[in-house]
Amino acid sequence: MSFSSLQLIEPIAKALQAEGYTKPTPIQEKAIPVLLERKDLLGCAQTGTGKTAAFAIPILQLLHQDELYKKGPAGIKALILTPTRELAIQIGDSFSAYGKFLRIKHTVIFGGVSQKAQTDALRGGVDILIATPGRLLDLINQRFVKLDQLKMFVLDEADRMLDMGFIHDVKKVIAKIPAKRQTLFFSATMPKEIAELANTILTNPVRVEV
Ligand code: AMP
Repeated sequence: MSFSSLQLIEPIAKALQAEGYTKPTPIQEKAIPVLLERKDLLGCAQTGTGKTAAFAIPILQLLHQDELYKKGPAGIKALILTPTRELAIQIGDSFSAYGKFLRIKHTVIFGGVSQKAQTDALRGGVDILIATPGRLLDLINQRFVKLDQLKMFVLDEADRMLDMGFIHDVKKVIAKIPAKRQTLFFSATMPKEIAELANTILTNPVRVEV
C-alpha cells in the first residue's frame, strides 16, 4: 500500500515525501482512514510503530478541511496529552514536519521549565496543543488555556500515564473538555484501569492493534 491510496491532501503528501516516507506503516494504514472518517480509535501500539504520524496526519488534514469549509471560531481544536517532555517535543516536531506546507499552528507545553515562553506562544493563538498533564492543568487553572473549541482529543501512552502516576490529572483534563469530540486512545498495554478509562471516554471506537 502507498500513501496515495489514503487520499491525503497534496500539502501533506508533499511533506511526507520530503520526510522520505514512501509507504505507510501498518498502524498508519489501518488508523488513517478510520480517523479521516472522524471515528474514535483505540490503538494498541508501541512507540516506534509510526503511531505519531498515524494521528498527526489525520488531525492536520481534518483541521485544514475545517478551516477551508467551515471557518468556525478560533481556539484550540486538537489536544494531544502525552506523559513526558521528550515525547511532547517529538510529537511537536512531527507536526512541524507533516504540517510544513499548511498554515496550522501548534505549540508544546510541559512542566519543569518556566511557563513564560509557553504562555506567550498560547497568547498568539494555536490550533493544536501538545501537552503533559500537570502543566496543562496548571495553565487551564490560570486561564491561559481554553478548551471549549476542542474537536479532537488524543490520549497518548495511556498505560505510561498510569505507571507515572498521572492518571488522576488526565481524568481532570478530560472532565474539562467538550463531550462532543473525536477521541483517539493509544496504549501499548491494556491493564484493567486503562481499559475502563478507554471505555468511558471513547464512543464506538474502531480497535487497531499492531
Ligand atoms: P513513532 O512510532 O511515531 O515514534 O515513529 C517512529 C519513527 O518512524 C519516527 O522517527 C518517524 O519519523 C518514522 N516514521 C513514521 N512513519 C513512517 C513511514 N511511513 N515511513 C518511514 N518512517 C516513518
